[in-house]
Amino acid sequence: MKKLAILGATGSIGASTLSVCRANPDLYQITLLAASSSVNKMFLLCQEFTPLYVSMSDKKSRLRLTVLLKQVNSPCQLLDNEEQLLQLLASNEVDSVMAAIVGGAGLKTTLAAVEAGKEIFLANKEALVMSGALFIEAVLKSGAKLWPVDSEHNAIYQALSSTLQNSIGACDLQGQGVAKILLTGSGGPFLEKKLADFKAITPAQAVKHPNWSMGQKISIDSATMMNKGLEYIEARWLFNARVDQLQVVIHPQSVIHSMVQYKDGSVIAQMGNPDMRVPIAHVMGGGSRIDSGVAPFDFFSGVNLNFAKPDFNRYPCLKLAIDACYQGQHATTTLNAVNEVAVEAFLNNQIKFTQISQLVERVLNSRETQQINSIEHLLQIDSESKAAARQLIKRDLLC
Ligand code: NAD
Ligand code: MG
Repeated sequence: MKKLAILGATGSIGASTLSVCRANPDLYQITLLAASSSVNKMFLLCQEFTPLYVSMSDKKSRLRLTVLLKQVNSPCQLLDNEEQLLQLLASNEVDSVMAAIVGGAGLKTTLAAVEAGKEIFLANKEALVMSGALFIEAVLKSGAKLWPVDSEHNAIYQALSSTLQNSIGACDLQGQGVAKILLTGSGGPFLEKKLADFKAITPAQAVKHPNWSMGQKISIDSATMMNKGLEYIEARWLFNARVDQLQVVIHPQSVIHSMVQYKDGSVIAQMGNPDMRVPIAHVMGGGSRIDSGVAPFDFFSGVNLNFAKPDFNRYPCLKLAIDACYQGQHATTTLNAVNEVAVEAFLNNQIKFTQISQLVERVLNSRETQQINSIEHLLQIDSESKAAARQLIKRDLLC
């Protein structure tokens, strides 16, 4: 049995991962469950899965969980701090890591597992977007096996030759006959909404994705299509793709999860019901097919498959992300940082839906081009960009 650590265990990806574990009880022993502050959920998970170790990044939550675990004489050991968590991830008590913390908060832990050469199931796209070349360099240096969990990247991975699958981070797409990676996206809940009504969009409307059930941040990112922009940057790094090798295609039904177009005209698509347990089962099975618990796709249900070009007037965040991808690391780090602040502010009713892209653009335009060659420098840009964004919100300087 392989020893699995699940980072972000109480979230949406965490729940799907644990569901695949339930369906395949002989594959993994759960060494660690880590999360932020959902104590009650974590307590239930500890009782069901009895991980050797548990980590809660929020101090109050850690103390509450300590009491609860004591009351039931649980053998689960609570880690005291982040240092212990990073050490555990690098130790031989862990073989595989599901990286599913949301946002830049997942960078340190994911990188620690990468640097220790572990098998990484990468859901936390923000970590890769934030650190790009540094992340990929660490993967290539340590020999860590990086599996894409994001449904689009997992679909692309499945549609690639084994030569390319074995060179994640350093793919020679052209040499293997790949003409284009076609990254599909549903367009989210506002694909048909009048642009004039965008200002009045509420958080409750924006979190309701038509096809996927996900955490709050990625649901808002899907509504603005910043998610597709982050995925574009993610694809650029995972598959070493050039600008002319990446294209976003709107596909409202989310049946095709992405495609690879080859130079002979063949297009290979991966399809199925939109459920994250499918790509999770794919990576957890090491590419072999295991049970995911997902119903087979019904071709006779009357669903039609449509495709369209994205409209950047509707999705300015997508354009900002694609441009940032080619401006360099400082731009993608800033884009990701400001987007995190903007999404939180929108969810707290501090800014309007349309101000998410304005905020990202304003801060991006205000920052100088910088060469980034260390994680410390990158984290500094992340916090400066966040501070600049918070200032703009506080001083009400958006239109
Ligand atoms: P979520 O909000 O449902 O869960 C986030 C998890 O991260 C929770 O367990 C939370 O406790 C934990 N967390 C947050 N901050 C933390 C911290 N500082 N330390 C430790 N744990 C922390 O999010 P989600 O939808 O499961 O998404 C997780 C990641 O997977 C994101 O990066 C997202 O982009 C990516 N992803 C999600 C989906 C999806 O369908 N949900 C699909 C593709 C990729
Ligand atoms: Mg995705």
